[in-house]
Amino acid sequence: MNDVFSLKGKKGLVVGIANDLSIAYGCAAVMRRQGADLAVTYLNGASEKFVRPLAEQLQADIIAPCDVRIDGQLETVFETIAQRWGKLDFLVHSIAFAPKEDLHGRTVDCSSAGFAMAMDISCHSFIRMTRLAEPLMPHGGSLMTVSYYGGRKVVEHYNMMGPVKAALEISVKYMASELGPKGIRVNAISPGPLRTRAASGIDRFDELLEQAAERAPEHQLASIEDCGAAAAFLAGDGAKAITGTTLFVDAGYHIVG
Ligand code: NAD
Repeated sequence: MNDVFSLKGKKGLVVGIANDLSIAYGCAAVMRRQGADLAVTYLNGASEKFVRPLAEQLQADIIAPCDVRIDGQLETVFETIAQRWGKLDFLVHSIAFAPKEDLHGRTVDCSSAGFAMAMDISCHSFIRMTRLAEPLMPHGGSLMTVSYYGGRKVVEHYNMMGPVKAALEISVKYMASELGPKGIRVNAISPGPLRTRAASGIDRFDELLEQAAERAPEHQLASIEDCGAAAAFLAGDGAKAITGTTLFVDAGYHIVG
């Protein structure tokens, strides 16, 4: 039997590295260590200078710009993958965004435009990526996104991102059901709070970190490497019977939170 934890020979796209604190970076680093070949994207020129050195250190075959709000950029990434690799084995979608003025207010007050933008970048972009990945996965594959407990239960200050993550998690289930017959698996990883750039946009995030570490059964916070290990597992053949699920990487917080 093959090593079910090895990613040797597998090719994967990782979207969402901003810096070396990003959950996507933790995923890419562990996946590379397990033998995967990677395609890595950066948001724009400003983030390229942080992301490119990390991507080079990961010996990424493809390093490309990808702002999911810019028409055609995502399509170009997948065209490059089709030309260079002719296939894709896994995808990590680890991006989210909400306008600050909407994120910091009550859900009741969030604007239509702000809500639509958060849904587009944080949820619908995963649907678009899945659609583009499907033809590159004729023999199956593994697609994953990153959610948060605030999509299940009310978490103070998470506000309108709660409904966005709920939409993301149920989209995972519908797409897993639709693509299961093709051997394409779709899952979410749900990490506990981590000090990343995206997290710094959430009000009183330090309190959330403290509370998570205190209440979690393991009394610790998960790390981006822990997320990477879960992502690598989901990408590998060892997870071939796992689809449509949310895997919590949160030291057990979700059972007590
Ligand atoms: P991060 O800031 O390192 O990553 C967020 C990424 O989203 C960045 O790379 C950014 O460039 C990208 N992004 C934003 N708008 C984009 C756009 N228009 N097109 C393409 N990319 C865009 O922060 P992170 O915490 O690693 O966030 C990754 C994912 O993890 C997010 O979905 C976040 O909601 C989720 N998450 C984070 C935590 C946490 O506590 N940090 C917990 C659970 C889930």
